[in-house]
This record gives sequence, C-alpha cells and structure tokens, in this order.
Amino acid sequence: MSYSIGCFDNYVNGKFCASSSGETMETKNPANGSLVAKVQKSTVDDVHEAVRVANEAFNNADWAWNPRRRTRALFAWADAIRNNMDDLMRKLSMETGKPLQEARGELMGSIGYLEYYGAMARSLYGGVTSIDKDSYSMLVREPLGAVGIIVPWNYPITLLMRDLAPALAAGNTAVVKPANQTSGITMEVISLLEGIDEIPAGVVNALTGSGRVIGMELVRTKGIEMINFTGSSSTGKTIMREASNTMKKLSLELGGKSASVVFADADFDKAMTFAIRSIFTHAGQLCTSASRLVVEESIKDKVLDELTKRAQALKVGNGLEEGTQMGAISTKDQFDSIMRYIEIARKEGRIVTGGKQITRDGLDQGYFIEPTIVTDLPIDSRVAQEEIFGPVLVVQTFKTEEEAVAIANSTAFGLASGVWSKDIDRAMRVARRMKAGSTWINTYNRLIPEAETGGYKESGIGRSGGREGILEFTEVKHIMIDHTPLR
Ligand code: NAD
Repeated sequence: MSYSIGCFDNYVNGKFCASSSGETMETKNPANGSLVAKVQKSTVDDVHEAVRVANEAFNNADWAWNPRRRTRALFAWADAIRNNMDDLMRKLSMETGKPLQEARGELMGSIGYLEYYGAMARSLYGGVTSIDKDSYSMLVREPLGAVGIIVPWNYPITLLMRDLAPALAAGNTAVVKPANQTSGITMEVISLLEGIDEIPAGVVNALTGSGRVIGMELVRTKGIEMINFTGSSSTGKTIMREASNTMKKLSLELGGKSASVVFADADFDKAMTFAIRSIFTHAGQLCTSASRLVVEESIKDKVLDELTKRAQALKVGNGLEEGTQMGAISTKDQFDSIMRYIEIARKEGRIVTGGKQITRDGLDQGYFIEPTIVTDLPIDSRVAQEEIFGPVLVVQTFKTEEEAVAIANSTAFGLASGVWSKDIDRAMRVARRMKAGSTWINTYNRLIPEAETGGYKESGIGRSGGREGILEFTEVKHIMIDHTPLR
C-alpha cells in the first residue's frame, strides 16, 4: 500500500514509537479518495505514558526555567517549516483538500505564531508592588506543567501552533492530539522536531487516534493541568463536563455562525470581494467564516446579483491543481451534513445559486459542492442558526441599524463578526454592540498572531493569540517578601 505523505508512529519522549494497540488507521485525500497517511490508533495506556513523560520533562528537562532556550527552539521550528514549505504545502493540500495557496497561507500562519510567541517567551513579565517600607508583593507568571492540545482538521497546522507555541513559550510541556483526518500532515510537522536539539525529549509529545478514546483520556486523566481544545461546540461541552472531576483549566475555541453586516454606503466592490472570500475559503470550513451576510434591504438585489456572478466564476477542483480557488469538503460525513442543510434551505428559503454536488471531470471521486447562496429564510431556520461548516452563505436583510445588530447577534454563537460602512461612527457603534470575540471593520478574517481570537456565548472560553493567548497557559503566583525587623 502506498501513502502519499507516509506512515507515522507516535512521537513520545523524543522518539517515534508504535502504539500499544498494534493498530493503525488511514487518512484519505478528500479530492479523490487516494490514501494519504497511515498513523497509530493509540490507547489510553499510550496517553498515560505520554503524560508521564511530559511531566518528567517539565520537572527535569532544561525547559521550564529557560526562556532563552524556548525562544531558540520555537524559532528553529519555524525555520524548519519555512525550509520545507513546498513539500509541506502539497501534503497539507492532499490531506485537507484545500488549494495550494491556502495551504501556503496556513503554513505561513503557523510560522507567524511560532515566531511571535518565540519572541514573547523572553518577556513574560509579572509585577511588583511595594506594600510598605519593608515588604513587597510580587506577581510571577509560571507555567502550569503538562498541557493537552486537541486540534481540529480544518486548519491543522496553524491551529496547532496558535496554541502549542504559547504553551511552550510559557514553559509548559505538551501532549498533542491531532484530528484524525489530518494526522499525517500533523505528524510530518512534528517529525521536524527530530533535527531541533533545543527542544528536549519529552517537551512535545503527539499521539494519534480516536478523540473519544485518547482525547477524552487527556481530558480526564491526572497529570494534565490544562486542556486547550479547538473544535466543535458540542465536543467542547462534553470536555467541560468531563474536565470538572480534576478541575482542569480549560481553553475552548469552538464553532461559529458569524455575521458580516453590509450597510448601503459600504465600498461595494471591496465588501463583495470579502463576502466571497469569507465564506468560500477552504469551502466554508473555517470557524470564523462569515456564513451570514446581513445586508441593508435597499441593496439586496444588487448584492445577490454580484455574489451570484462571483460564486459561479469560482474554479472548484483538486487543491493540488494550479488555479483552483475552492477545494473539496474534508470527509463524506461533512459532505452529507452540508447537503442535509442545503435540503432544509431549499424547503424553508430560496437557493440563489449552487446547492448541488459537483461531479464533472472526475470530481465525483471526491466531495465537491457548488458555492451556494441562500436567502429568504426565517430567522429561526436551522440553516440561519446552526454552523454548517461548508460553502453555504445565508443572506439576511435589515432596514435599521438596530435590526442589523439584532440579526447579527441572533444565534447561540459569538465567534466573529464584520461591519461594512464608510460612516466610521456607525461602524464603531455597531462593532461595539456585536456579541462576538472579533469584529472586523471594512475587512474580514484578518487573523494575526498579535490579536486575540475567541468566543462569546457557545463559541468558547478563553482567548488564543496575542498576549492573552500566552497568559492562558500560565498560573499567577503571589510571592510576598517582608524584611521588617522583628521588634
Ligand atoms: P470536533 O469537535 O469533532 O473534533 C476536534 C478535535 O477533538 C479532534 O482532534 C477530535 O478527534 C477531538 N475529539 C472528538 N471528540 C472528543 C472527545 N469526546 N474528547 C476529546 N477530544 C475529542 O471538531 P472538528 O469537526 O474536528 O472541527 C470543526 C469544528 O471546530 C467546527 O465547529 C469549527 O467551528 C471549530 N473550530 C473552531 C476554531 C476556533 O478557533 N474557535 C477553529 C477551527 C475550528
């Protein structure tokens, strides 16, 4: 059997080793069903061994107390990704289906996080307060210990580094659990550690396998001080319940149903360009996708005409082919789920364009869906309320600013939002009222290491990125020193 990325063991204590199960699992290219990688199907025992090793490294390796080493280590990992860019781009595209340019963007994003947090490792300052003439209170930022990082499949490398890089920069050690669908590319990036002496054995460990088995054990077991989870809100809720027994610290980066609000005075061309990009990038499989476009009623017809023209012009196909603008849906399950939502949309609203599987030119071997635009849905339709995670844009309309805000905030999620208007006073007013962790004005999806992302409501707890993103991985210790002479 030949695998286009390769066969991988788990990575524990600086070595590759097979799972105690003796079992493996495979990943496939969603564009054509070909085999991509073979990885270990790990067990609860494998988790316990990785947790033991991560704690030993935390306590004994030259890591938790050596921020300068951590800076060098993260920079070296960033360099290794950069030096292997062309190869990694192709492999990432094969396992996720995303176009090569998007794969490149994702890898550049991971380098950005490694370098941003690598630099920050050396400036994680606490604070000192003078209490009186002879005593001081110090606040010291300390690493937590061994942490668990659970990653989804849609942006497997950027999201890995968005949270692993600050965890390591703060001095923690980690056990990583990649998503099943993207275990091959994740282990490929983990394998770059073999050439990086600055990262001691046991600091980064990675196990592949079932989320319900090994992901859940990371959540339940003692010896893991924090779970950083990026994934669906439903799994996030399970994790929150299960983590309570050991009172683990949690950071949950979950789903979204984000709205971008377009006022009639917006820069039309720019707003339309971003509307298309914000939903059809990675075929809508992006947590912050602007899956709802909330437009002022007076421009609805103009918006729908323009979006239809642009959606129909998108080149959909195998991500590895030059010029592809939208790739495949990641799995059959995800494909079926999206098609079910489209069927609901057909009954409850109006499909403006798209709505069908694409089967031409051999694409029937993979999971391809036409870029789809839907309108005239009731506000409580599941299509307007639930995360579809596919290339389906819901267009809603408003008459007043008040109504625009109410529609934008009308779901259980609160991950991201956008406002388009040339009236900066209004844009700021609306941005401040969005119940969402990020709001972009006259742009969308500018996801950068320097800025925090995270969710209101059912989109999560905690923040990734920026300074908050590293503070999540620390404890605050108060130390008081009192040198008042005893009288
Ligand atoms: P998912 O919840 O199915 O899986 C995410 C990860 O959790 C995978 O590694 C999986 O194996 C593991 N897992 C599954 N069940 C588990 C359990 N019971 N215990 C522990 N781990 C378990 O999500 P997905 O389908 O991989 O990803 C898509 C979802 O992720 C979407 O909802 C998307 O919005 C969300 N997401 C959020 C962000 C963000 O930053 N907020 C970013 C990307 C994706």
